[in-house]
Amino acid sequence: MKQLLTSLLDLIFPPRCEVCRKNSQAAMCQDCFIEIKYMKPHLGIHSVSTYEGALKEAIHRFKFKNRKRLADPLGLLLVNYLSHIPSINMQEIDAIVPVPLHQRRLKERGFNQVALVAQIMQKYFEVPVLPALERIKDTEAQFDLAREERFHNIKEAFRVNHNHSVADKRVLLLDDIYTTGATIAECSKCLKTAGAKRVEILTLSRAVEHQA
Ligand SMILES: [Zn+2]
Repeated sequence: MKQLLTSLLDLIFPPRCEVCRKNSQAAMCQDCFIEIKYMKPHLGIHSVSTYEGALKEAIHRFKFKNRKRLADPLGLLLVNYLSHIPSINMQEIDAIVPVPLHQRRLKERGFNQVALVAQIMQKYFEVPVLPALERIKDTEAQFDLAREERFHNIKEAFRVNHNHSVADKRVLLLDDIYTTGATIAECSKCLKTAGAKRVEILTLSRAVEHQA
């Protein structure tokens, strides 16, 4: 019965790709998925691709339009990316730590987009997601700030939640967009101060600064 209802609904409202709106069972169709070209790691930072095109649209809709089903393809993208780069071996990682949202932002959005994709990675690699970081400063949106302001804005914005110890652990720090690196640097510092043995950095995308 449920199956019949699903196929009837599919007939009336065919499932579409969240990015290009073509008919697609998956939240991101194959064409959009392969449009995303992988980037080489840069100075120890691993980002799947630049923040533009299909990836930008997917992250934007996921975060701001509440399209939670995009967690699946975005998680899969990270899994696929990691299988292509030799510099992070998930068998040598003890925990995935998502960059947290402040409690106020979390209430507003209802979910932490980074934690959702981390869960997809957890399922695939069998490496636990550890909510080891807390955002204690309700910072202004980094996006609107100049570079130096971003570093100042984010200072002391995080702390380690000692219920989820990172002591002696090899940690994969995960975020959605890498811009100036201020957030990542601050989180990484917190984790190391709390005794993390190693911190690897992975982001879904990297913002590109266009020259004027
Ligand atoms: Zn598509």
